[in-house]
Formats: sequence, structure tokens, C-alpha cells
Amino acid sequence: MTDRRRIVAGNWKMHGSLVSASELAGALAATTHEAGRGLPEVIVFPPFPHLDAVRRVLEEAESAGTLAVQLGAQDLSIHEQGAHTGEVSADMLLDCGCSHVLVGHSERRTGLRESDELVARKFHRAADHGLIPVLCVGETLPERRAERTAEVVLRQLGAVLELCGGNMFERAVLAYEPVWAIGTGHTATPEQAQQVHTLLRGEIARTNAKIAVGIRILYGGSVNGANAAALFAQPDIDGGLVGGASLDAKEFLRIIAAV
Ligand code: PEP
Repeated sequence: MTDRRRIVAGNWKMHGSLVSASELAGALAATTHEAGRGLPEVIVFPPFPHLDAVRRVLEEAESAGTLAVQLGAQDLSIHEQGAHTGEVSADMLLDCGCSHVLVGHSERRTGLRESDELVARKFHRAADHGLIPVLCVGETLPERRAERTAEVVLRQLGAVLELCGGNMFERAVLAYEPVWAIGTGHTATPEQAQQVHTLLRGEIARTNAKIAVGIRILYGGSVNGANAAALFAQPDIDGGLVGGASLDAKEFLRIIAAV
């Protein structure tokens, strides 16, 4: 057993409205964790236009002493500021109350053709500005079938290590998200996930052993209330990055309870 504090993170993707996002945040925040101790870190990643409203709901609940939920964004720009229409800077996210930001989600790598190099630059920008980057890596189904999983995730991680160095992972979070498991209902088995998590931790250890022991590595891909406990029981799975199931407060709270 390690003393790594678990994390349950909810990626709300491009779902919901201002009203539904606020209600969902309110439902999560209103849940007081009975034990108090042993509580995982909970982070939600709403769409950009909902960040401020969600922040206000979370801040109100915080002062009432309920479940602390942190706020994250789903993306950031590599640019500081300037003529970059549609982009959102690290400082803007900090202004909105974000502590975390996703980088390298497969829907951006694939759908928006974000390269390993661009992802690495986003990671650097986030960490350099005091945001905690949540770096997502994962293989597609053809890559898994071709037994290229290790090669792919190490390449994705390697691009960030090369640009940023191992020390920049001190405040970072890693997420292994096999692309074939995202939104499909086909969860990786706990053993499949554990194998990749061990590999990722080992790779970080090659640059900094201390950071490797402490870094939280989340599993993402069709996590729900029924399968979460078995996944989180693995020694190198330090929580989950949850998409679909994080949009339902009850289901998301079941996952939190599984930790
Ligand atoms: C995700 O979007 O990162 C994700 C893991 O989605 P889902 O839980 O729906 O598979």
C-alpha cells in the first residue's frame, strides 16, 4: 500500500447546459463525506463556458464544509495571450478558479489532430503557470491488437518527458485511457490497466524515482459504479478519469464511494 491520495475526476466533455452543470456541481458538492478522512480528491472538468458558474456553486458548498470538489478545464492554449481566436490561456483558467487541466485527451489527439509535441507544449504551459496537468495517454484498438500498447503510451509520455523533464511531473497527474474503452462500455480489465500503469510508473522512475512513487495514475475508459472498485483495487491505479458516468451525480458518487 502507498499513501497516494486517490483521485476521481469527471470529464463532462461538451455536455449539458449552464443550468444542468450548476445542478450537477451542486449535487456533488452537497454530499458530505461521512468519514471525512480517506476521501479521494474529486475534480470536475466542465466545458469552458460553465467554469465560472460551477466554480461559484463549489465555492458556496466549500464554505458550508461539504465535499471539496476541485475545478479543471478540458484544454488550454500553448500561447500566453494574443491573436489566437477561440483559444483559452492558462492565466484565464487560473482566473476562473481552475487548479487542473486535461492535456492529450484522445478526443483531441484524434479528432483535432493534436500531436505528441503539441500535447507536450500544453503540458509545459500548464505546469509552468501552476496548473496541474492531467496527461492522458492510451492506445487505439488496432494498436492494442498489434501489441503496440507499450510503444504507443511510452511514445506519448516520452514526448512530454523530453520537452519538460521528469521534475515537471512532480505536480502532474497521469491518466491511462485506452481509446477503445472510452465511451464504449468495454472497460479494460483491472489486470490490463495495472500492466500499463506499472509501465508508466516505471518510465517516470527512470527520470525521477521519488516522483514516480508519488505520482497518481488514473484509469479512464467506461468506469462506472459497478466496475470501479475492482479497478481501484490494483496497486498502481490511483483513481479514475470518468466521462459518461460523471454526468450522473448518483453514479459518480458511487464511483467516489468505491475509492
Ligand atoms: C473520458 O472521456 O475521458 C472517458 C474516460 O469517458 P468514459 O468514462 O465515458 O469512457
